Amino acid sequence: MSRSSDLAARSRAAVWHPCTQMARLDAVPPLPMVRGDGPWLIDADGHRYFDATSAWWTNLFGHSDAGLQQAIARQAATLPHVMLAGCTHEPAVLLAEGLRALTGGALGHAFFGSDGASATEIALKMSAHYWRNQGQPQKCEFIALAGGYHGETLGALSVTDVPIFRDAYAPLLRATHLAPALHEPGALAAIERLLVELDGRCAALIVEPLIQGASGMRMHGPEVLRALRALCTQHGVHLIADEIAVGCGRTGTFFAWEQVDPQHWPDFVLLSKGITGGTLPLSVVLTTDTVFNAFLSPDVARGFLHSHSYTGNAIVCAAACEVLRRFRESDLLQQLPRQAQALREAFAPLAQHPRVTALRQTGMVVAFDVSEPGERFAERFHLVARRNELLIRPIGATVYLMPPYLIDTPTAQWLAQAVRATLDEVLAGA
Ligand SMILES: *Cc1c(COP(=O)(O)O)cnc(C)c1O
Repeated sequence: MSRSSDLAARSRAAVWHPCTQMARLDAVPPLPMVRGDGPWLIDADGHRYFDATSAWWTNLFGHSDAGLQQAIARQAATLPHVMLAGCTHEPAVLLAEGLRALTGGALGHAFFGSDGASATEIALKMSAHYWRNQGQPQKCEFIALAGGYHGETLGALSVTDVPIFRDAYAPLLRATHLAPALHEPGALAAIERLLVELDGRCAALIVEPLIQGASGMRMHGPEVLRALRALCTQHGVHLIADEIAVGCGRTGTFFAWEQVDPQHWPDFVLLSKGITGGTLPLSVVLTTDTVFNAFLSPDVARGFLHSHSYTGNAIVCAAACEVLRRFRESDLLQQLPRQAQALREAFAPLAQHPRVTALRQTGMVVAFDVSEPGERFAERFHLVARRNELLIRPIGATVYLMPPYLIDTPTAQWLAQAVRATLDEVLAGA
């Protein structure tokens, strides 16, 4: 038995894999990865795979990045962790200050969580608690958008509209008001009607700016977000921008919102995934002076008493500081448009493919839909792609790439060719 199939079998027996029907593990054995090198992952048998989904959208600079390794090792050797209530440390302060600077000072307060879903929970609680502190406890309902994804803990799942993640738990969830997704015509008018209808009861509206990720890379432009910001202001409703997937340069700017309106920020911006460059779990909820100040009081209970044991962990914050340093001190943000252009040119011919529809791109995200995909398309595509040295997981019949920021023209062309070869093989076999 190869090292790799041995590990896969032991994994099947002992590790309950996320987002996986474990009964399919014999057909789709997990790849036992042993090493990462730039965009490549290497398995126990020495096979390599291009990580086209950046380790679930978290990786920015490639695997085993030397700068991140050093930042993590240095912090681990001095102060790995201390509670952030009653103590503070430089990595947390530098990170909060760095993020504030990137919003031009608009979002000057950073609350740390441990993963994306906890950031959503924090923002929802903070918004409702803000209104309560303002003497408006009835403002505790939320608006979410059709096809939106904000995480899978119960509060986050309440504002998530992806049936496969939600349906089994629907009885456990809080009722949320659902409005049309922003790429749908008439979405803004429908949202406005809902805001009027909910007069005085809505705390916040949550949105994924520019790209709805988990429901299949549905994209919209910045104009509709600008109008949404204005609508929320007009109706006294917080706007929560979930940049967990689209932040950290993914759409071409550090925050997607910079392309929307750098003068009028959301009330909350959520970051996670890329914030540590794909090394460690961390999330951040950024908010305004207005929100922050409403919690200041001699009364302890008017404070935001939310906590996680590892809130603001020092190693994790040091990794995030290194990510910010790279954005500040390298020419990465200048390079990203070139990388995106290389992808655009390499994938353009795929639009002529008879089974490809809606080829689309925003920054470093490329996606297309496959018509008549056949049974278990995503699984078959994933398996054939493995043989073409590509690690990729379609969402239903949507194939997408969200690679690390290491794309030059030859790499983009190799990727496009590998995707096309995989697609043709899958469709021929169906
Ligand atoms: C991944 C994701 C989340 C949840 O983050 P987790 O770390 O998986 O909990 C929330 N919102 C968006 C937009 C995401 O892509």
